[in-house]
Amino acid sequence: RALRIGTNHGSLSDRIMNRYGDTPLGMVESALEFARVCRRHGFHDLVFSMKSSNPKVMIACYRLLAARLAELGPDWNYPLHLGVTEAGEGEDGRIKSAIGIGALLCDGIGDTIRVSLTEDSIHEIPVCRDLIEQTGRLANLEPLPDCPPLPFDPFEYRRRPADKLPLGEGLACGGDEPIRVVVSRAQREALGPIAPGQDVRPEGVVEDLPVVGVDPRQPFALPEGAGLVTVRDDVPLPAITAFRLLAARLRQMNCRWPILLKDCLRLPEPPLPSRLALLQSATVLGALLADGLGDALWVRLEPDASQALRLAYNILQAVGSRSFKTDYVACPSCGRTLFNLQTVTARIKARTAHLKGVKIAIMGCIVNGPGEMADADFGYVGGAPGKVNLYVGKTPVKFNIPEAEAVDRLVDLIREHGKWIEPPAPAATS
Ligand code: SF4
Repeated sequence: RALRIGTNHGSLSDRIMNRYGDTPLGMVESALEFARVCRRHGFHDLVFSMKSSNPKVMIACYRLLAARLAELGPDWNYPLHLGVTEAGEGEDGRIKSAIGIGALLCDGIGDTIRVSLTEDSIHEIPVCRDLIEQTGRLANLEPLPDCPPLPFDPFEYRRRPADKLPLGEGLACGGDEPIRVVVSRAQREALGPIAPGQDVRPEGVVEDLPVVGVDPRQPFALPEGAGLVTVRDDVPLPAITAFRLLAARLRQMNCRWPILLKDCLRLPEPPLPSRLALLQSATVLGALLADGLGDALWVRLEPDASQALRLAYNILQAVGSRSFKTDYVACPSCGRTLFNLQTVTARIKARTAHLKGVKIAIMGCIVNGPGEMADADFGYVGGAPGKVNLYVGKTPVKFNIPEAEAVDRLVDLIREHGKWIEPPAPAATS
């Protein structure tokens, strides 16, 4: 039987932590240590996995591992299993998985995949199939002629430096501004009035912005002044390849214009069903954002304007570029799970979904749960049958709380740590 060597972001040994820290390099070196033990015993039926709930960390880890294995020689060419661990459920779980798994498949990395959802496992298979099916269309695995060097470090996230550009209404993109969400005029009109204070809102209309579309296959010139540069819709390249090439050309030109990312260059006819639009937008935009590219983004594969707007924000949140709502890390459940993950997750979300910027982990057991909570602010972890332990960061602070009270105690804990705000009053109905 094959043996899987999996290292977890957040639960590396003290020895590895002291030497490399909780980093992609630490995870890779830890996996290689175990592989060397297997090889000393003549055992080669190995598969590697690098487990992280943070797609940026996961992408960097696998790229680093693939590079290290190539360096070690052809007899180290073991298969790689891809998965974003504790991705959660519903749209968020699918988006996180599409970013991590989709981006790596588009790099040509990965031999088996699992989409871990906090849902019945049968829902995972169609998402896996859809992700694999779309891969060939989104990135070019063949080298391009006359291609400048890669415009980012594939092993370490760093945002591409860009000049700040005003977008109107007191907003700007580029510089150290958040990555902005823009829409077309038609999408803006379809959205109708936006309530003041609403977090999910368009931050610019493409037709009103100084957008310049270019073909990055050849060197190009930009007009004098400042603007937002993007790839023209008629460029016959997959979107990920096209935007990486654009960033590479800009670097060659020493140009710091901010980049407007798009989830596709040609709108498919007929439009994609929403489930495929979600995966494709998340893969394309997530891969580029994880490369550190992009100062504004425009989702247009999803035909419904309000869903497209929400999807743009959800992608930014999943990749860790912006936070506009509570972040959940939830394990997919297994034989060790000590409570019903789906109902408990729904109960916790019902109480805490308005806590913008707070990260909550919901883990089924104390065996692996605490180690896999990543950088969550609070943890709800199965301690024993019917009993829950609560964590602040990685520190357990309350033990053996009866499950019936545990969500209330979690809310108390969030309050004690100054992260609680009262939920908005429900909108009046006429
Ligand atoms: S119950 Fe524990 S071991 Fe099982 S998936 Fe959840 S955290 Fe991992």
